[in-house]
Amino acid sequence: MSDHATDDDATAADGTEDAHIEDARIETRAIHAGQEPDPETGALMTPIHANSTYKQSAPGEHTGYEYSRTGDPTRSDLEANLASLESGSHARCFSSGMGAINTVLNLLDAGDHVVAGNDVYGGTHRILTQVYEQYDLDTTFVDTTDLDAVRDAMREETALVWVETPTNPLMNVNDIAALAEIAHEGDALCAVDNTFATPYLQRPLEHGADIVAQSLTKYLGGHSDTIGGALIVDDADLDERIGFYQNAVGATPGPFDCFLVLRGTKTLPVRMDRHCENAAELAAWLDAHEDVARVYYPGLESHPEHELAAEQMDDFGGMLSFEFDGTLAEASTVVSETDVFTLAESLGGVESLIEQPAAMTHAAIPREERLAAGLTDGLIRVSVGVEHVDDLKADLQAAFETARQ
Ligand SMILES: *Cc1c(COP(=O)(O)O)cnc(C)c1O
Repeated sequence: MSDHATDDDATAADGTEDAHIEDARIETRAIHAGQEPDPETGALMTPIHANSTYKQSAPGEHTGYEYSRTGDPTRSDLEANLASLESGSHARCFSSGMGAINTVLNLLDAGDHVVAGNDVYGGTHRILTQVYEQYDLDTTFVDTTDLDAVRDAMREETALVWVETPTNPLMNVNDIAALAEIAHEGDALCAVDNTFATPYLQRPLEHGADIVAQSLTKYLGGHSDTIGGALIVDDADLDERIGFYQNAVGATPGPFDCFLVLRGTKTLPVRMDRHCENAAELAAWLDAHEDVARVYYPGLESHPEHELAAEQMDDFGGMLSFEFDGTLAEASTVVSETDVFTLAESLGGVESLIEQPAAMTHAAIPREERLAAGLTDGLIRVSVGVEHVDDLKADLQAAFETARQ
């Protein structure tokens, strides 16, 4: 379905299909990149190297592994796989998405300034304001769909422009190439949190971003069974700086978590195809529903950045939000009454999840501020899973009817 950037590049000069994994299409690289059958046993799957330290043949002489905080073979395979998927040269894995995001901030100095979207992930907002402000790192939060506002926010000390796209929960789409250009004009790095889109749908490094951050907890793991994060770059020097903090700070994942994510990335393309297909159909159904005031999904032509999304992304993703035409209590009933959708935070797993930002993920924001940002009482966010879409519709329909009683 998707017209991926590498689709045209996989034919060798003599017209034959190139069998090298690194030149293959993303569906093939998802399964094979970074992974070889174990040379000793032939085992197909990367082993879980449950191990803390490595034998050296003489002091300092080792296989490339010496201590598992610094690196282990299971993690290395996952890092190589992720670098390939994100069109980067290097990747580094962390014990959570926040561990990865923290490491980007480790690259900055006291006195530096950050420009970030005013609708970034709550944890990103929290670490910038409640952790790094005390280290004299100042952040300006702006509407990153407004490029002039971003330009105005840039200062002499701006060292990082932090971009998320699509954003949570209103699915705003930001122009990665334009934002990277503004960052670079100010000698700042541009980092993109690519968790919602995944590399199957969007590869920010191809649009000029310097760093991609991923919460592996979401679509890349894909089965709601592990927490993880990654940073991917296309620059060996930047990777080395990130690697220094990865090892020095030590928020590194264990081999079992890396194994789970490696298993997840193999099916990322097939899962994303179904997530996108289901979300598109559900968005259209909700859009026509009398109990729904508004649908936020970049695949709808009514979405303000639909054209940008169509250019920047290969498909529109599995996340959507909608405004149930009712009170906070009625919307709470909707999210509590579904059977196929599970009421839970998080996203990106095979199962559909539902939540009410005003009462859950964004409840800490004062109501006036929330409303001004478009986060109404009736807003409902769903992570559309890979179940049969008719069951998803029937489930929501029944919950709407209960809420109306
Ligand atoms: C979940 C999430 C994070 C944080 O990742 P964790 O793995 O929960 O630490 C960061 N950004 C986005 C967009 C997320 O959805």
